[in-house]
Amino acid sequence: MEHPENDSQYLGLAVNSGVAQPPIVNPYLKKRKRKPLPTASELVEGILKGDVTTLSRAVTLVESLAREHYIIAQEVIEKCLPYSGNSRRIGITGVPGAGKSTSIDVFGLHVLREGGKLAVLAIDPSSERTKGSILGDKTRMEKLSMHPDAFIRPSPSAGSLGGVARKTRETIVLCEAAGYNNIFVETVGVGQSETAVHSMVDFFLLIQIAGAGDELQGIKRGIMEMADGIVINKADGDNIGPAQLAQAQFRSALHLFPPTASGWKPEVLTYSGYYELGIPEVWEMIDRYFAFVKKNGYFQEKRKEQARWWMYETIDEQLRKHFYDNPAIRERLAVCEADVLANRRSSFAAAGDVLSQYFKK
Ligand code: GDP
Repeated sequence: MEHPENDSQYLGLAVNSGVAQPPIVNPYLKKRKRKPLPTASELVEGILKGDVTTLSRAVTLVESLAREHYIIAQEVIEKCLPYSGNSRRIGITGVPGAGKSTSIDVFGLHVLREGGKLAVLAIDPSSERTKGSILGDKTRMEKLSMHPDAFIRPSPSAGSLGGVARKTRETIVLCEAAGYNNIFVETVGVGQSETAVHSMVDFFLLIQIAGAGDELQGIKRGIMEMADGIVINKADGDNIGPAQLAQAQFRSALHLFPPTASGWKPEVLTYSGYYELGIPEVWEMIDRYFAFVKKNGYFQEKRKEQARWWMYETIDEQLRKHFYDNPAIRERLAVCEADVLANRRSSFAAAGDVLSQYFKK
C-alpha cells in the first residue's frame, strides 16, 4: 500500500505494513443463532414433569421485562394455575443478621425429611442481579442448595416493589405446578416488602434475636402484627437466657395486640439455627397453625382474599406503568412539578392538568 508518510520529506516516519487487527466483534458469534423461545406448551409440559431446567427458564420469562416474554409467561401461568395451590406457603422475615439464611437451610432440610419438595424464593426490591442478590443467594444456603429436591431462586432484580413481588407471586404458581409443596418466601424485615410477602403466604414467620437492649425496639409494630409465629434465633450458649427473656417480652407484647382474623394466637419460641436446637418445635407450631386454619376455613378464605388482592394490585401496577411510561406525560409532569415547586400552581391543579392530558388521548 502507498503511504504518503513514506515520502522522503517524512524521513524517520517510515510506515511498514503491519498485521491486520482482528475484528472487534467475532464474526462467528454474529452468525450464531439465538436459542428460539420455547412455546408456552413446551414449558408447561416440562414444568408439570417437574423438570428444573424448564422451571428455571419459565421463571426467567416471568421476570423478564420484554413484552414477548411477558406474553409467553402469562400463558404458562394460566395453564399452570389449575395445578397450583397444593402447598404450604411460608413467609420468613427478619432483619439482616437475624439468621435467615442459616435458619432456612436447616428449616428446609427439616421439611424435606418429611418428603416432598421445597422452593425458596425471595423478595428484595433493592437487589440487583448484576451485583448478586442479597437474598436467595445459593451460597448462603449451603446444604439446601445441594439438595436435589430444593429449588432456590434469588429475588427478581430491582424494580418497583409491586413488580418484584408480583413476579415472585407468579413464580409460586409455577413452582407449585412443578410439584413443590413447600414454598418459602424470604424477605428482609426492614421495609415495605413484608406486606407484599404477607399477601402471598399462608404463614408468616418473624425471626428475631435477643441481646440488643430493648427487644422490641426497632421492630415495626406492623410486622409483629402480621406474624403468625415469632421465633427467637441464636438461643445457644450464653445467649439462652437473653433469648428466653426476649421470648417473655414478645409474649407479653403480643397480648396487647387485637385478636387475629384467623383466630390463631401467634406463638413465640426460641431456637438455634446454627446449632440446630429447637427446630422440630418450630415446625410443630407451623403444623399446628395449618391444622387450625384448615379446620376453621380461614386457610381457603385467606387464599381467596389474596387472589383478589393480587388482581387489584396488578391492575394498579399496570395503570401506573402505562401512565408514567408515556413520554408526553413525563414531559408534562416535569413542567407541572417545576410549577408546583416554584409555588406557581397548587399540587391539585397540576395533578388535574396532567391527568386531563392523559385521559384526553
Ligand atoms: P441473615 O442475614 O438473616 O440471612 O443471617 P445469616 O443466616 O447470614 O446469619 C448471620 C450471622 O449469625 C452468621 O454469622 C451466622 O453464623 C450467625 N448465626 C445464625 N444463626 C445462628 C445461631 O443459631 N446461633 C448463633 N450463635 N449464630 C447464628
